[in-house]
Amino acid sequence: MQQAVTVKRQYWGDTVTYSRKVFVPLTNMCRDTCTYCTFVKHPSSPEANIMTPEQVMRTARQGEETGCKELLFSLGEKPELRYEQAKAALAQLGYGSMVSYLADTCEMVLQETTLLPHVNAGTLNDEEIDQLRPYAASMGMMLETTSRRLMKKGQPHFGCPDKAPVQRLRTLERAGQKKIPFTTGLLIGIGETWEERIEALEAINECHARHGHIQEVIIQNFQRKPGIGMEIHPEPSLDDMLRTLAVARLILSPEISLQAPPNLSERHMEYLSAGINDWGGISPVTIDFINPQHRWPVIDELAQSTQQAGQTLEERLTVYPSYLREKSEFVDPVVLSKSKGLWEQMGSSAAVQSGGSL
Ligand code: SF4
Repeated sequence: MQQAVTVKRQYWGDTVTYSRKVFVPLTNMCRDTCTYCTFVKHPSSPEANIMTPEQVMRTARQGEETGCKELLFSLGEKPELRYEQAKAALAQLGYGSMVSYLADTCEMVLQETTLLPHVNAGTLNDEEIDQLRPYAASMGMMLETTSRRLMKKGQPHFGCPDKAPVQRLRTLERAGQKKIPFTTGLLIGIGETWEERIEALEAINECHARHGHIQEVIIQNFQRKPGIGMEIHPEPSLDDMLRTLAVARLILSPEISLQAPPNLSERHMEYLSAGINDWGGISPVTIDFINPQHRWPVIDELAQSTQQAGQTLEERLTVYPSYLREKSEFVDPVVLSKSKGLWEQMGSSAAVQSGGSL
């Protein structure tokens, strides 16, 4: 952990960042059935839905009013390929696929609001990435694990075609080839071994070495929730989190931001002693739709406790500064100019070594 903190300090200084964002769960239907998921709703559920453009804009306006800079689209994976109801609901909106609908909604947000879209749409093929690239400042997909064992019967990813590690690794690779500033990460405590965790971190780092596109890696701890398939599965301990974070900081290239969520452990401030430099997205408006039982921290309180730990909380955009500067070919010109404008408005200081002025 001490070595991890040294690496963090050398590259990221005494700053810890966060992104002020608003969440749009575009659809909660999904063709996968991960047994730790509470976000997903079966199409037969009265809660299953696809948000309309009007609903998206209403949420976006709330985000603008509360100073958010990012709109995060999170959604289940390709529900229309498995469920007739999802296909019909999309057809009613005038679309044949979720990704086409997402691309248009993303364009609307980019053009009609002050927010930068970040897209979290799971596995994507080349054409899908091409559709989204002009309108998204950054994209993301949790690799979660490289364990094929967890796809077997009785395991969390059984019957989940998008959770085949090879599919997720292919998406990471495609995002690199297509030059997308990309967020990924591990979900820990779902049955993977230490070797598998390390293998996943090494796979991410190797992909980044090929393409330079991994802007951040999230280490997320599995949360037990009532009603899910894994409701009695033990949660990872704080010690597991700290060890994984420190190992991640030492395996990953130092320019990759290391993030852990502040709302999934009461003792999250201890993550700072394992080398993290980012708290991820925090919303003053919308709940954490993936972990709805865990409230976001109040940003001012997080700033205070970060200060007490000897570090300074600083706001960042969804796309990291190096992709607006020396790696600007990663961002579409329209998105680039909007991002730079927002960055200047924020008047961000040069506190972060990889940040600084543009
Ligand atoms: S792929 Fe994502 S949304 Fe779908 S079931 Fe798994 S965790 Fe839930």
